[in-house]
Amino acid sequence: MLRSVILAASRSAKVERAVGSAPISRDVVRRFVAGTTTDDALRATRELLDDGLTVTLDHLGEDTLNEDQANATRDEYLNLLAALGEQGLSHGAEVSLKLSALGQAFDEERAESNARAICAAAAAVGTTVTLDMEDHTTTDSTLAILARLRKDYPTTGAVLQAYLRRTEQDCRELAGSGSRVRLCKGAYKEPEHVAFQAALDVDKSYVRCMNVLMAGEGYPMLATHDPRLIAIGEDRARWFDRSPDEFEFQMLYGVRPEEQRRLAAAGYTVRVYVPYGTQWYGYLMRRLAERPANMMFFARALTSK
Ligand code: FAD
Repeated sequence: MLRSVILAASRSAKVERAVGSAPISRDVVRRFVAGTTTDDALRATRELLDDGLTVTLDHLGEDTLNEDQANATRDEYLNLLAALGEQGLSHGAEVSLKLSALGQAFDEERAESNARAICAAAAAVGTTVTLDMEDHTTTDSTLAILARLRKDYPTTGAVLQAYLRRTEQDCRELAGSGSRVRLCKGAYKEPEHVAFQAALDVDKSYVRCMNVLMAGEGYPMLATHDPRLIAIGEDRARWFDRSPDEFEFQMLYGVRPEEQRRLAAAGYTVRVYVPYGTQWYGYLMRRLAERPANMMFFARALTSK
């Protein structure tokens, strides 16, 4: 119930204005967001790489409604990738994109050409791109754009969400050689006819999807903080004889950092999803919805300032 209310608020411009203007402690945002500038993103990347982790960077922003904003997002990614290359960080850091931030809602072709420019910049510095997955109304469009991008940039990654009923089939289609698939539970509020609603059903779907990806020929990226699913991931890696360079675990910046380091110390590849930028509202609300304890942390910060 609380999750539904917070997720509904995450799409409300009115609540965004109220929260954005509230005197929130910087610590609340900083726990989940690396900072607002490219330099903040680069600093966080360097620290994580020094700790034996790898990184995917997300310039925060979604649901862009005009061409100027979409182009500005593209340009920020181009700057970021050039800086990653110049500073020697691109060996361990890739980028994650939301097509809605590149214009998908009003001009799919523009979103694709912006994404293509970012894929080219990533390839030029020896790294790659993963397309984040947003709500279910965008899934077909995002997978179609992915398929076209992969013709020129074969390492471009996809995200599949275990809560969607369609995802096991999508995993089968994307488990082929050369594909990179991030499997997550899914972070949006979705209707019953497209998504499992009970946590147990989502977890069971995650395991079925993980089995398909780990048995396949692609590169699975297991994005979860769930201790049970991580243990099952370790088990499947042994079962399917996948070495640490044949799959990876992924977690969000600020969530279970000790577990990120434990897995890396055990020899696994661990990638941390690092968001940065000023448009943190939607991202932060989804993180709060995932865990009531985070909501209390947020509420205390709001009332104590
Ligand atoms: P949960 O059942 O939510 O959590 C399991 C346990 O992990 C909890 O009991 C708690 O111990 C810990 N935990 C989980 N979340 C938190 C938190 N916020 N704070 C503190 N502890 C926590 N979703 C999309 O829809 N599209 C995407 O493109 C996408 N990309 C992602 C990329 C990465 C690298 C990751 C890790 C997640 C991504 N997600 C994305 C979010 C994902 O769908 C889930 O909403 C999120 O990961 C929480 O699910 P979980 O698997 O961690 O399990």
